[in-house]
Amino acid sequence: QTTFRQPVEVPQDKLLGGLLPAGLDEKSCLSRYQSVLYRKKNIHQPSSHLISRLRNYESQHKRCGPYTESYNRTLKYLNSNQYNSSTGCNYVVWLSFSGLGNRILSLASAFLYALLTNRVLLVDRGLDIPDLFCEPFPDVSWLLPSDFPLTDKFSSFNQKSPESYGNMLKNNVFANSVSSSLPAYVYLHLVHDYDEHDKLFFCDQDQTVLQQVPWLILKTDNYFIPSLFLIPSFEQELHNLFPEKGTVLHHLCRYLLNPTNSVWGLITRYYNAYLATADEKIGIQIRVFEAGPGPYQYVSDQILACVIKENLLPQINKNLPIINPPGKPKIKAVLITSLSSGYFEALRNMYWEHPTITGEIIELCQPSHEVYQQTEKQMHNRKAWAEMYQLSLMDKLVTSSWSTFGYVAQSLGGLRPWILYKVENQTAPDPPCQRAMSMEPCFHAPPFYDCKRKIGTDTGKIVPNVQHCEDMSWGLKLF
Ligand code: GDP
Repeated sequence: QTTFRQPVEVPQDKLLGGLLPAGLDEKSCLSRYQSVLYRKKNIHQPSSHLISRLRNYESQHKRCGPYTESYNRTLKYLNSNQYNSSTGCNYVVWLSFSGLGNRILSLASAFLYALLTNRVLLVDRGLDIPDLFCEPFPDVSWLLPSDFPLTDKFSSFNQKSPESYGNMLKNNVFANSVSSSLPAYVYLHLVHDYDEHDKLFFCDQDQTVLQQVPWLILKTDNYFIPSLFLIPSFEQELHNLFPEKGTVLHHLCRYLLNPTNSVWGLITRYYNAYLATADEKIGIQIRVFEAGPGPYQYVSDQILACVIKENLLPQINKNLPIINPPGKPKIKAVLITSLSSGYFEALRNMYWEHPTITGEIIELCQPSHEVYQQTEKQMHNRKAWAEMYQLSLMDKLVTSSWSTFGYVAQSLGGLRPWILYKVENQTAPDPPCQRAMSMEPCFHAPPFYDCKRKIGTDTGKIVPNVQHCEDMSWGLKLF
């Protein structure tokens, strides 16, 4: 049993403008309703259409979720792998795959896809999904039952699997799509190594085919939502759900992905110990995709150049031993997350050894330095999730190019980060960083295909709100 300090204030908007359903058990998931105590006032309100679609989804989930009568009936099709008539419930099964940041982005993408296609989302628990995330829907679990007939196949599904949509297309499985000849399930391989047949998932005509298949098994490590915005039949609905385009993951994450009490304990203990009293809070997320664990001097140089140039942190005065401005000094807390402790130590020493020219006091903290990715360990993943969440509670955020860890933090926090450009040839890029145009993540492996004309095209140039990313020229992101 976890015990918590009782919050003193009564939360004003604990349902986040109607985003969260009322009536869920508070004690079993304290983060869901306590998050407002740790965040700045929310400036992005969910649309009334999103709210009503979520409430509809919740009742659909209750009707179709695990072990309901409809679930049991739809499951029977899997055993015969023959599909005859709809039970009124179709499913997307999300497979737990890849690093935690990637999993969060792909899970949110799967949920939005389920909303758009009137499917029910069921979640493969992987090693630790129930240890990290609260149950999001009232009454009926989102976890795929462990006796689900295809569970044994999950780890072997890959680009070559004959059950994948791409390979089924190649083998003309859908050539005469009378519903009696349709398979009961299709494996959707949307992992970064997918081929042009798999990518046809993003075409309207293929969505029409998939619509008739009761079970879709989805494996992806990507945030594929930007390309859903390019599918004409989803366009109007997406516009109604998200009139403010750059807030898609912001709302989806806050609704769907609330930390369990063990993770919430990590978040709040750390916050209250190191961050709560600072006048300003700055997060710096450092993810270095170099061969060794680092630290690297050129990355330290880049971080410093960025925070000074962008006025996020003050310069130091190397000539004076002390600077005493009148009154109480302003304290800026800097939360660093990194696998290495080297960047934190360099900055902390610098601000200890010298005064700042403004007289501000710079406090540095870093919750963990795990050295390398250890996705198979429970406490490692809890800490990774806690740190993404902690970054989202900061006033300003600096993130690393290409990192889904940073994308989760920025979207959850509603923060437009400064992105550190990717290091090339072991040199700090100049300029060191750039302010992002929106808080949305980048889809790293989008298709470049014009489904109507059946030729290659630049999908970053079709509609104004889907463009190429700041940190990856071929990626797509929502603005
Ligand atoms: P990405 O590789 O940066 O896109 O992010 P992912 O979250 O998908 O995978 C990286 C994984 O490495 C994380 O999930 C953690 O397991 C680990 N990791 C990377 N950076 C950090 C960090 O700053 N703190 C912690 N605790 N873990 C990290």
